Amino acid sequence: MRVIKSWRTMQREALQWRREAVRIGFVPTMGYLHDGHMSLVRRARKLVGSAGKVVVSIYVNPTQFGPTEDLARYPRDLARDNKLCRAEGVDLVFLPNDQEMYPGKSEGRFSTFVVEENLSQGMEGAARPTHFRGVTTVVAKLFNIVQADVAVFGQKDFQQAAVVRQMVSDLNFPTRIVVAPTTREADGLALSSRNKYLSPAERQQAVALWQTIQLARKTVSRTSVPAVNLKRTLAQFLATFPLANPDYVEIFDPATLQPVRVARRGDHLALAVRFGKTRLIDNGRL
Ligand code: AMP
Repeated sequence: MRVIKSWRTMQREALQWRREAVRIGFVPTMGYLHDGHMSLVRRARKLVGSAGKVVVSIYVNPTQFGPTEDLARYPRDLARDNKLCRAEGVDLVFLPNDQEMYPGKSEGRFSTFVVEENLSQGMEGAARPTHFRGVTTVVAKLFNIVQADVAVFGQKDFQQAAVVRQMVSDLNFPTRIVVAPTTREADGLALSSRNKYLSPAERQQAVALWQTIQLARKTVSRTSVPAVNLKRTLAQFLATFPLANPDYVEIFDPATLQPVRVARRGDHLALAVRFGKTRLIDNGRL
């Protein structure tokens, strides 16, 4: 397994693969890898085959963090990440630093950003105003560097996948986007690098997100319900977890991400909940 830190070297390698008609599968991550990430790697391998190349990028992208967010304390363990990638048969880890990705940013010499203006407005976009601008910018850069035929994203970040798909379509990227299901712990908690922040008591109550999705599913399984009523029921349920501070619970059309007035099967639910300083998100189809 190769590790490349320079974007120019990475791009040269990728362009060479393309000339040789080698298929490139790409999994962008912020590292501190877990089995959710590795499930995307396995999906990428299936998509490109044994003759293809699987590239994982590990980069904690500063432009997608707000000024009061957890950029500085975001967990990192490169040695472990490398081991996991090697064990999974990853061909190449792209590991740039901030100087590689945003040269001269603090002096204003990096000045081009990619902004999606519709799907990125609500939910995570409302709670984290500059988040998706950072995501679309770094993903566009990574796509230009890695030259992937196919990139795999997790449904765990449902809105992110939708925004990236829209960007790829609007800006004519040749990369196909595949979205893979969320990997969960036995009790339903979605795997996340941020779960590491949780105290044992918070970890126990973090199952609230999954149980809220399950409760919503059960509620609309036989009948449609006004969204305000369903949201009230879910808020009351979340209130039974004393350590959980809900940020939002939204019920929306999965194609447009627009909130629905009446919730029914096939709609989508997404929520963000804080436990102390830790903010977790999850989502699921109703
Ligand atoms: P991150 O490192 O958190 O930026 O995530 C990198 C990629 O892994 C994104 O496409 C995420 O949606 C995906 N991902 C994160 N957690 C999970 C999970 N539990 N199951 C599946 N994919 C995930």
